[in-house]
Amino acid sequence: MKTVLYPGSFDPVTVGHMDIIARAAAQFERVIVGVVHNPQKPSGVFPVAVRMEMLRTAVKAYDNIVVQEFSGLLVDAVHACSADAVVRGLRTSADLETEMQMARLNRQIGGVETFFFAATPEAVHISASFVRDIGRYGGRLEGLVPEVLRSQIAEALRERQ
Ligand code: ADP
Repeated sequence: MKTVLYPGSFDPVTVGHMDIIARAAAQFERVIVGVVHNPQKPSGVFPVAVRMEMLRTAVKAYDNIVVQEFSGLLVDAVHACSADAVVRGLRTSADLETEMQMARLNRQIGGVETFFFAATPEAVHISASFVRDIGRYGGRLEGLVPEVLRSQIAEALRERQ
């Protein structure tokens, strides 16, 4: 197993995402972090270009991680970037249910396998949506997002209030 695709919205990247990225980079030769972008349905708080730029800053120290944007079916993205499998993180039993369903469908429609990393106890409670809520009201983002991006994320979220 050489190259894996780690897809997500990363709106914005959190320390939970970074934990999965770092652990995947230690297990696989190459990790492609795929930022989902559906041009027909623009959504989210941070523009996709900004999410990608923030991810690139956060993974700067790794030489086996690249950040790409993708749209459409995940199985098509896996084949297009010649990845061997998908990586996802699991936090709760709710994650497990939907992730199992997606993993089985991706295997059925595209022959794509999914590897799961169990969320680390230090980050299991962290989600991008809670980060957005906390940041919007000026709450502390220490330990929730990569330190190098904390002020950028805090400022952008405060401006949206
Ligand atoms: P979120 O659910 O935070 O909005 P994404 O949609 O970008 O994040 O999720 C991308 C992947 O990262 C999913 O597999 C999700 O389960 C995983 N993930 C998100 N937050 C964490 C965390 N704190 N620990 C482990 N995995 C996580």
